[in-house]
Amino acid sequence: MLPTCSIILFELMRHDVTFPLYVEVDRIFNLACPASPIHYQHDPVQTTKTSVHGAINMLGLAKRVKARILQASTSEVYGDPEIHPQPESYWGKVNPVGIRSCYDEGKRCAETLFFDYHRQHRMQIKVVRIFNTYGPRMHPDDGRVVSNFICQALQGKDLTIYGDGAQTRSFCYVDDLVEGMLRMMDSPPELTGPVNMGNPTEFSMLELAEKIITIAGGRSQLCFKPLPEDDPRQRQQDITLAEKALGWSPKVSLEEGLRETVAYFRRILAK
Ligand code: UDP
Ligand code: UDP
Repeated sequence: MLPTCSIILFELMRHDVTFPLYVEVDRIFNLACPASPIHYQHDPVQTTKTSVHGAINMLGLAKRVKARILQASTSEVYGDPEIHPQPESYWGKVNPVGIRSCYDEGKRCAETLFFDYHRQHRMQIKVVRIFNTYGPRMHPDDGRVVSNFICQALQGKDLTIYGDGAQTRSFCYVDDLVEGMLRMMDSPPELTGPVNMGNPTEFSMLELAEKIITIAGGRSQLCFKPLPEDDPRQRQQDITLAEKALGWSPKVSLEEGLRETVAYFRRILAK
């Protein structure tokens, strides 16, 4: 039971991180940036600004108030990787001038800024590289594969497979990721990362589509669309570091997580 005199204070502010922010805080989770390809490619200049100017402003804020700061980085820093699974020591294979570059290079530059502020100003930084994450509260128009397939299946539409569907991803349920990020924030100062965070079980998009049709029910078929430019063929993380340093590994299987997510979309699509 809560002590009777305790006050829980929460303040929500709408703010664009590309502009300076003056607040008094002791911990910062810098999660700002659209992460769905259709959204981050809609205004690519703003996407790079969000990662780069946003990181500078949040690092400047953290420096002034001596806050610990965590950066949500991404598996996209590995680009279309040449080694599998990808450990944190892999430098990646990223196209610097393609349509995904605003996101990939923006996040890579943000990592650089985090490590330079750490070395130059002795700041406490934490960098996690997040792999494909899904779960309830995704937007129906998010545009990424899990929400697209679920909404299509629930609406009796065909599931849109880009390319031949043999490309792979590993999907992490949101609750597992949140737990990992909280552990990272609470970890000893010398653990800066980068630390990979995600569920290492790898699935092809065809396998994902089959699972979603089974769970959501209905009679959807598959329809094949062109593969977007620079779409990574295979992605699977090595989470050895997260397991050793944080005692963390994902607990929710893809089937369990998809059931929760399908139940969520069923509710909101019915409204
Ligand atoms: N900044 C901010 N909030 C603060 C302190 C700084 O948004 O509480 C921004 C500010 O716009 C600055 C940036 O963070 O340009 C980087 O700050 P830093 O102290 O590293 O650099 P400088 O102020 O010397 O440019
Ligand atoms: N994808 C698909 N159908 C969709 C949306 C995405 O086949 O309706 C594919 C996409 O080409 C990619 C994979 O699913 O190979 C994951 O795409 P998503 O946009 O979810 O994430 P990311 O490419 O950033 O990993």
